[in-house]
Amino acid sequence: MLLRHTPEEQIERSALTVNPAKTCQPVGAMYAALGIHNCLPHSHGSQGCCAYHRSALTRHYKDPIMATTSSFTEGASVFGGQANLLESIANIFSIYGPDLIAVNTTCLSEVIGDDLTQIVNKAQAEGKIPAGKRVIHANTPSFKGSHVTGFANMTQAMVQYLAESSGTKLRQFNIIPGYVEPSDMAEVKRIAAELGIAAVTFPDTSEVVNSPLDGKFHMYPKGGTKVEAIKSAGDSALTFALGRTASLPAAKLLDTKCKVPFEVLDLPIGLQATDALIDALRKAAGVSVPESLMVERGRVVDLTTDMHQYFFRKKVALVGDPDHLVSLTQFLTDLDMEVVLVVTGTPPGPKFERRIRELAGDGVVVKAGLGTDMFQFHQYVKQLKPDLLFGNTYAKYIARDEDIPLIRIGFPIYDRVGHQYFPIVGYQGAMRLLEKILNALMDRQDRDAPEESFELVM
Ligand code: SF4
Repeated sequence: MLLRHTPEEQIERSALTVNPAKTCQPVGAMYAALGIHNCLPHSHGSQGCCAYHRSALTRHYKDPIMATTSSFTEGASVFGGQANLLESIANIFSIYGPDLIAVNTTCLSEVIGDDLTQIVNKAQAEGKIPAGKRVIHANTPSFKGSHVTGFANMTQAMVQYLAESSGTKLRQFNIIPGYVEPSDMAEVKRIAAELGIAAVTFPDTSEVVNSPLDGKFHMYPKGGTKVEAIKSAGDSALTFALGRTASLPAAKLLDTKCKVPFEVLDLPIGLQATDALIDALRKAAGVSVPESLMVERGRVVDLTTDMHQYFFRKKVALVGDPDHLVSLTQFLTDLDMEVVLVVTGTPPGPKFERRIRELAGDGVVVKAGLGTDMFQFHQYVKQLKPDLLFGNTYAKYIARDEDIPLIRIGFPIYDRVGHQYFPIVGYQGAMRLLEKILNALMDRQDRDAPEESFELVM
C-alpha cells in the first residue's frame, strides 16, 4: 500500500534509507561458511542477529540452517564478548562436534571492538579447540557492507586460515564461484568436470542448503568443500575468481600468501560470460572443449535466434548484486534488450559503473553503494517505464504497483522455488534465463492482447 504513494519526482535525501537494496553482511558470511564441509557458522553478537541470519537463509532455501550465537546480553554489550565466545567455542565442539567453526562478527561486536584474532588465539592457547579442529573468523560489520561483502570476507578468511603452500605445485585449479546459488556452484563444477579439469571449488554450498529429504536429520549435510581441499588451494596452479566483488579478495590473498596467480572473470551468466570461463579454463589446462558443451552452447544460440524478435528493444530495469548485474547487463544487451536502470545497495568497487556503461551505453541510470534503496529503484522505474524487472522478492511490490513483469533473481527469494535446484550460470543457466524472460514477456503479451491478435503460435 505504502509503495502506491512513492512519488516519481526525486528529492535530495542523505539521512534516510527506505528498504535498502541489500541485506546484512553476516547473512553472506554464514552462507559462505555453510560451503565448508562439517562447518558450523557462528554469529558473534546477540541472539536476534543470529535468528535473523538463519531465518533469511532458511526462508530462501526452504531448508533448516544450522548456526550458533555468542548470545550477547547487556554485560557482553558493555564489557565485550570474549567470555561468551570462549565458552561458545568449548560448548560447540563438545556438543555439536563440527570440524570447523566459522565465526562472523555483527554490528554490535564490531562497535564494541572485539578483537577476534586475539580471542581465537586465546581459545587455542586455553585448549578449547580440540586437536585437528579449526576456528576461523571474518569481520562483517553490516553498517559497512552487504551480504555480498560478508560472503567475500568469509571466503577470504578461508584462505587466511586454511590455505597453505607446501612448496610443491599441484596440477589443479581453484575456482571461487562467487555469491551464487548451490545449483550454480554445482553447474560450475560440472563444466570443469566436462573439461576434465581438477578443480578445488570453494566455498561450495551444493548438497548443503539444497540437500535431499531422506527421512533423517543431518546436522552436517554431505556437501561443502573439505578443509583439506581448501588447504591444498595454496598449491594450485591458478585461481579463477568469478565475480569481482565476491571473489577477488580471496583470490588476491591466495596470491599474496601462497603465490597462486589469479584471473578475474565475470559470473558466467549468459553466452559471452560462459564462453569466457570455458575459454579461460581450456587455455589454462591445455584441454579441448568437448562436444557435449558445444551442443549446449549451440542450443543457447538457437533459442536466442529463434526468439530474437521478442527480446528486441525491450527495456529492462535491474536491482541486485554487482557481480550478477554486470553479467546480466551483458547477456541482456547481447539479446538486443535495452538495460535502462541498474541498482545495487552493495558497494561495488570503482570499476562497476564504468563496466555497466560500456555494456549498456551512456544512457543507463546506475545507482550503487550503501544507502541505495528500493524506494529509489521504484522512483526510477516510474520515470523510465521498463517492460521487465529483474530483482529479488522485495521487488514484487514495485512490480505489482507498476504492473510490470518481474523475474526473480539474487537474494533473497522468499516466494518462489527453483533457484536452489536449477542454475542460471553456464549454457544450461542461459537456457533457463531465456525461458524465464520469454515466459514473462509472452504471458504479458497474451494477457494484454486484443481478441483478434491473441495468437496460438508464437
Ligand atoms: S544488527 Fe547488524 S548484524 Fe545484526 S541483524 Fe542487524 S544488520 Fe545484521
